[in-house]
Amino acid sequence: MASIRRMSTGRQCTRPGCSNPAVATLSFNHQEATAWLDDLAKESHPSTYDLCKRHAGHLSVPRGWDLRDRRNLVPDLAYTA
Ligand SMILES: [Zn+2]
Repeated sequence: MASIRRMSTGRQCTRPGCSNPAVATLSFNHQEATAWLDDLAKESHPSTYDLCKRHAGHLSVPRGWDLRDRRNLVPDLAYTA
C-alpha cells in the first residue's frame, strides 16, 4: 500500500481557533436542508468549508438538516463493520 502523504494543499480547518490541517470538505444545500461531508476537495470553494479530522468527526448540523457523510475514509477512523 503506497502511502500518500501530500500536504501540498496547505489548507486548514475553517473552524474558528482551529489550525489543524483540513481533511474533509463540508458543503450545504439550504433548499434541501442537507449537508455533505466529503474528502477534502481539490480546490477550496467559497460555499464550502474545510474541516480537520476532529471537527469533521464531531460535526453537527442544524435541527431538521440531514448530514450525509460521503467520505471514503481513511482507515484510522474506527471501522464500524
Ligand atoms: Zn478543526
